[in-house]
Formats: sequence, C-alpha cells, structure tokens
Amino acid sequence: MCGAAFDEDFRCRYEIARDEASLAKLRGSKYVKAALRRGFLDEMRTALESGVPVLFTGTPCHVAAVRRMFAKFADTLFTVDLICAGCPDQSIFDRYLENNWGLSNVAKYEFRSKARGWRHRHYLLHVVLKDGREIWRERGEDEYMTAMSSGLGRSGGCQNCPYCTMDRPGDLTIGDFWLVPEEMDDGKGTSAILVNNEKGRRLFESVRGDFVKTAEYPPFYLQERQWRLRTPPPLAPGRAAFMECIASGMSVKEAVEKAQEAD
Ligand SMILES: Cc1cc2nc3c(=O)[nH]c(=O)nc-3n(C[C@H](O)[C@H](O)[C@H](O)COP(=O)(O)OP(=O)(O)OC[C@H]3O[C@@H](n4cnc5c(N)ncnc54)[C@H](O)[C@@H]3O)c2cc1C
Ligand code: SF4
Repeated sequence: MCGAAFDEDFRCRYEIARDEASLAKLRGSKYVKAALRRGFLDEMRTALESGVPVLFTGTPCHVAAVRRMFAKFADTLFTVDLICAGCPDQSIFDRYLENNWGLSNVAKYEFRSKARGWRHRHYLLHVVLKDGREIWRERGEDEYMTAMSSGLGRSGGCQNCPYCTMDRPGDLTIGDFWLVPEEMDDGKGTSAILVNNEKGRRLFESVRGDFVKTAEYPPFYLQERQWRLRTPPPLAPGRAAFMECIASGMSVKEAVEKAQEAD
C-alpha cells in the first residue's frame, strides 16, 4: 500500500506500507505537498515487477503520473485519487512548525483529528508536543490552515489543474461528503467514494462490508456539493503578497495577516 506519510522531521512523502502496522502512518490527510521520490518509485517498480499487487493513493496529478509510469502493470496496480484542492509546499509547513513550537519539539501532528468528528469547514487540528502538551485548534484559529483553505499558500499550478472534473485518473476517488444527507450523518464525518471503473468496483465491493454504513447516490449529487469536481481552485487574490512575505522570511502568521490586509 502506497500513500503519503510524515517522516520524523514532518516531511510529507509517499511511502510503502508492507504490513498492517505500517498502514497507520499513511492514514490521515496531510495538507502538505507530498514528495514523489525516485527511491520510492524504484521500490514500487520492484514490487510490481515481482508480481506483488500495489495500491497507490495520492493526489490526482500523482496518480496520473504513476499510472503512466507503470502502464504495463495495469492488472496489478490499483489506484485511489483524492478530491483535491491543492496545498502548500513543505517549506511553508516547516516554517509554521518552527515558528509555533520549534520543529524538534513536535511529536505528533494531525491536520484533521477524528477524535471529535469533523464537518464541512470544521476540522480540528491536533498537535502533541514532546513535553506532553496537546494543542487543539479549529481550522479558522490556525494560520497554516487559513493559508491552505483560502489558497494563499497553495503551491503553484493548481489553478490550471486538469483533474477537477468527474473524469478521474484513479480506479476509486475518495473525498469528504460535504453537506451530507441527514440519513448518512452521525456527526463523526462522512466520506465520499466515487467508483470510476470495473477495477474500482471490485476493489470497493471487497471492502464494502467493513464500513459502518454505506448508501449510493448518483455521481452528480456529489459533484453539486464539491467545487473540486467541477473547477480548479482559483488563484487567491492575496497569494502573490503572501508568497512575497514568505520569501522575505516572515512567519506564516504575519504573511497571512499582510496578505489579508493587501487584499
Ligand atoms: C492536499 C489535499 C487536498 C484535498 N482537498 C480536498 C477537497 O477539496 N475536497 C475533498 O472532499 N477532499 C479533499 N481532500 C481529501 C480529504 O482531505 C480526505 O483525504 C478524504 O476525504 C479521505 O478521507 P479519509 O479520512 O477517508 O482518508 P485519509 O485518512 O484522510 O487518507 C486518505 C489517503 O490520502 C493520502 N494522503 C494524505 N495526505 C496526502 C498528501 N498530502 N498527498 C497525497 N496523498 C495524501 C494518504 O496516504 C491516505 O492514503 C484533500 C486531501 C489532500 C491531501
Ligand atoms: S489541485 Fe490538481 S495539480 Fe494541484 S495538487 Fe491537486 S491534483 Fe495536483
């Protein structure tokens, strides 16, 4: 299983999990651009060449790249893409961690803790420090999440993303079911899964029984609720100002404030 994990310095990169215990590090959204390293791709190739089935989960642009690269392994390569609005680069996340707590003091970082559930626009950030302190913040109280969700800190190019449509590169697509119908809302957060082809259907049916509850809706139902299945994320008006502030060495918090003033 391949997905995005943090290393010990909170650098986000694709990694392979070969057993159930290692899967934990792949779970959870990391709103930092994941590095698709050569070493990782070589490992993936070795696994595929030795006949091991591989499942790759990632942003649609990375899924499309991996599928092209490993086209000859179409029978054993399974792919899951995310509904995706882009995110900031690693350097912005590093600066934010350093400014807030000092990177070396952070033990655990969850962008979206599931401990108390999540809802549309209500994500709970959870940070555990090495001295045992815990920090909980709503999305709007945190400058990194503001930079991410407003698009100020989004890495370049996403405004022209060709994958913000219903034509998906993955066998399955996963995302948030925003504005979820009442019958599927238990207050803990509901996910959406698009089944994009026959391979995706087989994959989904093999795990369907493990979900607490599932219901089927026509695809347009989700598309209506999800901007990123219709149009790419627009360039935020204050983004240039934000990036200039970051380039000048300002903290993420100050850069967000300056960019919002300039807007
Ligand atoms: C940058 C980014 C932007 C997103 N934008 C939207 C959006 O606009 N609308 C929406 O509905 N959903 C969006 N998502 C998806 C959403 O955050 C959840 O991942 C999705 O709903 C699945 O949730 P989950 O709890 O089932 O799985 P999760 O536990 O969140 O994980 C799903 C998979 O995502 C992979 N992943 C995590 N972080 C990254 C990363 N940085 N790069 C590549 N793969 C990663 C993990 O490896 C894991 O396999 C986005 C995710 C990312 C990473
Ligand atoms: S928005 Fe598109 S280009 Fe940007 S990270 Fe997501 S899939 Fe890639």
